[in-house]
Order: sequence, then structure tokens, then C-alpha cells
Amino acid sequence: MLTTGSMDGKGIGCKQRNMNVARKYGPMYSYSKINSYFNCPLMFKYRYIERVKVERFEGIEAFLGKRVHETLEMLYSDLKRQKVNSASDLRTYYEDRWEKKYSDDVRIVKKGYCSENYLGMGRKYIADYYKKNFPFTSSTTVSLEQKVNLKLDGHSIVGYIDRLAICGQDSAYEIHDYKTSGSLPPQAVLKRDEQLSLYALAVRNMYDDAKNIRVVWHYLAFNKEFGYLRSEKELEDVAKSLIRKIGIIEDAVKEGDFLPNASALCSWCEYQEICPIHKHKFSACNDTKKVYESGVELVDRYALLKMRQRKIADEMDEVRDALIEYCIKNGMSAVESVEYVAKVSESKDVKYPRAGDENRKELEDYLRKAKLWDKVAGLDVFALRRVLKETLLDKRVADRIRGFGSEEISYKVSLGKRKEGE
Ligand code: SF4
Repeated sequence: MLTTGSMDGKGIGCKQRNMNVARKYGPMYSYSKINSYFNCPLMFKYRYIERVKVERFEGIEAFLGKRVHETLEMLYSDLKRQKVNSASDLRTYYEDRWEKKYSDDVRIVKKGYCSENYLGMGRKYIADYYKKNFPFTSSTTVSLEQKVNLKLDGHSIVGYIDRLAICGQDSAYEIHDYKTSGSLPPQAVLKRDEQLSLYALAVRNMYDDAKNIRVVWHYLAFNKEFGYLRSEKELEDVAKSLIRKIGIIEDAVKEGDFLPNASALCSWCEYQEICPIHKHKFSACNDTKKVYESGVELVDRYALLKMRQRKIADEMDEVRDALIEYCIKNGMSAVESVEYVAKVSESKDVKYPRAGDENRKELEDYLRKAKLWDKVAGLDVFALRRVLKETLLDKRVADRIRGFGSEEISYKVSLGKRKEGE
């Protein structure tokens, strides 16, 4: 069932509060809200602008993440009260929470796996973490699931820190984040991560003595921990970047610019049923079956014709090569039949290195040295669009550049094989 903008009685108080905040500071943001626009603008629109209500499902990965977080929260909450749980206490707690919360609504997207696999993964993550960190004295926990609220250039951003702690060694404030994802990002990605830096900005505002702030990730699936002190400059850069991103989102909201961005994340998106990229397959199940079937017929016909076209193109290449070879061998430049004549002509062209070719840079350097660069450099329209979208240009300059553009709607048909599971 899909509705837009409705709210249940329970949510009214909360929504009113959010509206009051919104009036004072503009819309409320969170890191995941900002990130969702850059993952898929259309999903952002469904979730945050239109507030489309769909029957939300919970993926098993998110379910597993919640149970592991609850277990670690219990561990540190008890530690604050001088109670040290054993590894088996933690395992029992985790299994109890799993059993209590698990239902058939939890969706397993990856084929060939069942809930037992994921339950076992969580058990291992917790056992490994326990072994590695026991007796948990390297830092003192300040708070768990700490809500932080940051004001950035008139924008309000909220977030939750899994565990805020003070390090026993250098007294740095530590922002701990527990990840249950099955992939390990390269350290370069973590070093420029903005989510924990955003929380670091909030912690800096919360405590006068928060001069040293470390962001720490625990990648539980790999039993790995990465921690980096965030410098003042890094935090300022993140603040600027977030303000810029919010600016891009707000421009998109004004212009209604929300194109879908299909990616691996689509499998976990609750809006597939209404998303133009995926809605066709869902139309098979209800009273739009006819629409579904005529679409299937069209795509199959198109695929068949494409195959024939490819076969014909291959045959044409073969015959063309044979004609050229025939002419060269016999010293001819035209071959006649009763109705047709095929002419084979020779031409010479000079090719210059393209972008990415081995000696392209050398050519560019030479053209600059010869003061010819301005004359030969073409306008990169992709870069221009990027500059307009991502750079804070003077409004007059941006408007003038946009004035050169004209809106054009075009359609392209591309054909590919369906992947297994799609
Ligand atoms: S299904 Fe994919 S493309 Fe469509 S809204 Fe969701 S994330 Fe975006």
C-alpha cells in the first residue's frame, strides 16, 4: 500500500517538533539522509520529500547489525556499572534478542543463505570482539547511542554515536562505530569518511576539553579496528563539504531534480515497486498484468531483432573484408554485378592520441609549450556540468553559463542480459 505524506497519531507530536525545528533551522538532516541523496536522488525524494509510505521490509543484514549493536551496548552499559559479562553471557543475550525479534518479515536478499548463517556470523563477531578487547579497560565509556545535534551554517544535523569514550592512554575523546558489513573499505576511504567526523564536530562543541578526538571503526566481520585522530583542519573541511552537499540537495529540491541511480543498493530499496527502473517486474502480480505482458513481448522482440542485427553486421564485415582482399589481390578498385557496383577506395587519416593513451600527456605538454593549447582544447561539457553542480560559483556567473544550455529530452534504448536473481 502506497500513500504520501500521511502520519499516524503516534507520530504527530514528533512531527510537530520536527516542524518547529525545521522552521527555525530549515529541514533536519542526518548523515544517512545526506548520503541517501548521493546514493540515489530518487530514493531520497520518495523517502524524505514525498514521504511515500511503503510496507518496509528489514534486510537480514540490518537485522543482524541491530542485534550485534544491542549486545555490545549491553556489554558496555554493564561495564559502566562495574559488571563484567562473560563471553557466554554475551552470546546468550545475543541469541535471546535474535529469537525474540526474528520474524518472517526479515528479508534475505542473497540467494543460498538462511537466517542460521547470519545468526552464526553475529555469534562469531561478538566472540572475536570479546577476545580481542577483554578486559575492556583501554577506554572509559562516556555514553552509548549518544544523540548529537550539530548546527552547520543554519542547517541542523542529528546523529547517534554507537559509543563515546575517553581513551586511557592519551585522554582523547573516541567515537566508536561498530560495523557488521561484509566488506572492508580501504583505509584511504576511512581517512576521508565524513560520518564520524561529523560526530567529532558535535563532540568538539559538547566538551571544552575535547582537543583530541579520535574516530574508531570496528569492522567486526574482520576483527579489525581502525582509529585516526581528526585534526582541526580535517574537521573544518568536513564541515564545508557537508554544507556544500546540503546546498546541492536543497538546489535539487528547488528544481525537482531527482533522477534514479541504479546500483547494487537497489536490492535493499523499499521503493522498487514504484521506481521507474524496477516497477515493470512488479506489475506482473496485480491488475496491471496486461501492461506487464506487453512490455515483456516488446523487450523480447527487440532482443531478437538486436541479435539478428548483430549477426547481419558480422556477416557484412566478413563480406566487406573479402571484397577488399579481392580488390587488392586483383588490382581493382570496383567490382560489378548485374545490378550493383561495389567501390573500394583507400584513404589516409592521421590519428592523434586520445585521453588515456600513452603519449597523450606528452602531446598536451608540447601544445602548451607551443602556446597552442587554447586553440585546440575542446570544451568538456561533462566537466562543465560538474562545476555547475558541485562548485560554489558566483550566482551571476552560474546563471550566465546555464543560459548557454537548452533543455532537450532524449531517449536511448539499450539492451542487456538480465542478471541472475534480478
Ligand atoms: S530502486 Fe534503485 S534506482 Fe530506484 S529508487 Fe531505489 S535505489 Fe533508486
